[in-house]
Amino acid sequence: MSTITPEMTALNAAVRREFAAEYASGAISSWGIYNCRPKNNNPANGYSEHSWGNGEDYKILPEGGAAGDRLAAWARTSPLVAETFWKVYLHWDHIHLTASPRRNPDNRQIPPCAGGKVELVTFLPLREGDGIGDRAEKTDDVRLVQDMLNVAFGTDLDRDGRYGPATVAAVATHLGGEGKQVRAKAYESLLRRYVRTVGGSAGGITRDQADKRYLPKGAPIVARGWEPPA
Ligand SMILES: [Zn+2]
Repeated sequence: MSTITPEMTALNAAVRREFAAEYASGAISSWGIYNCRPKNNNPANGYSEHSWGNGEDYKILPEGGAAGDRLAAWARTSPLVAETFWKVYLHWDHIHLTASPRRNPDNRQIPPCAGGKVELVTFLPLREGDGIGDRAEKTDDVRLVQDMLNVAFGTDLDRDGRYGPATVAAVATHLGGEGKQVRAKAYESLLRRYVRTVGGSAGGITRDQADKRYLPKGAPIVARGWEPPA
């Protein structure tokens, strides 16, 4: 069950108001708020503000000009914001904002969801045939999986967003099963491997290096954004 703090609701609304043009163009989009997990999915780091619904991730289109810089600059002067981070995640420049006040200022606070399972980003389960014909609406999600397979496992899939035979084979080889679907568990292991590869841990690479190596050329991935409650 999702929860979002009142402060996060206000911050989200303010960002959408201040950056309406960037939202309209797609230069900025919302990736997610509520997400019960430790920071970087490492329990030693304490729980993320996302676990309280008090942090939001904003994806910045690489082609979106300096939208990310404008958002970060705004955030640094806004009393609504307690923390601002830049990260690389899933090929996007990603800005995380924590709403003020922090719910976990000493990294020792236990969220209501404590003991719950780790949840990663919003993702629709995929199956063979997605991104093709009357299931074309899943093209972006399939392309995201193709990108992550290429980076995490060194496959050479076309980024065509079509869950066809080559993608089936790659999923089977690297994520197990027959490869005909990617559900939450497989997606989670793919995402973990991807994040490790892109540079989350020791032996990883810097954000600049990741940008050079992994930012997609051509059509960007469109993030499936969180929408505020009506
Ligand atoms: Zn975040």
